[in-house]
Amino acid sequence: MNLKDYVTVVPDYPKEGITFKDITTIMDNGEAYKFATDEIVKYAQELNTDLIVGPEARGFIIGCPVAYALEIGFAPVRKPGKLPRETVSVDYDLEYGQDTLTIHSDAIKPGQRVLIVDDLLATGGTIGATIALVEKLGGIVVGCAFIIELSYLNGRDKLKGYDMRALITY
Ligand code: 5GP
Repeated sequence: MNLKDYVTVVPDYPKEGITFKDITTIMDNGEAYKFATDEIVKYAQELNTDLIVGPEARGFIIGCPVAYALEIGFAPVRKPGKLPRETVSVDYDLEYGQDTLTIHSDAIKPGQRVLIVDDLLATGGTIGATIALVEKLGGIVVGCAFIIELSYLNGRDKLKGYDMRALITY
């Protein structure tokens, strides 16, 4: 299957000059969604993954079916104020300004082998912060999986030393 055929490219969204890659047209096609999930499941198996971690909100859509298929857990990474119990947090830089991500303090057991999953790798800011959260809790980041990588934004350079897999590259 050529998964790229199921991505919808949306010009000037969310603002002029940005070409948004819409993955909802992968998800609303049962075959394409299953294919994408199965590819990440295989990668997770190669890495002997114990736990899937995904940042909100599209990381949940990609990560949860992978965790289900492997019969392992999923831990959500969220914006501040969204998780109900004690959290740890990491600040990271955006193009303009800063943002923060959080995870429950007990979401990961030290030494657990964690695969981080998100829909898309752009500048790497989101995944860099997610890696920092996992490592703060003593987890081992065995890899990072994406449906899409925007290689021209050089996110990988920021994440040197970590194993990365993207199903589609632009
Ligand atoms: P980064 O932190 O790597 O710069 O941006 C990646 C995050 O922004 C991901 O969590 C992703 O959901 C979102 N994102 C940025 N651009 C796009 C896009 O074109 N399509 C989709 N689906 N998500 C995007």
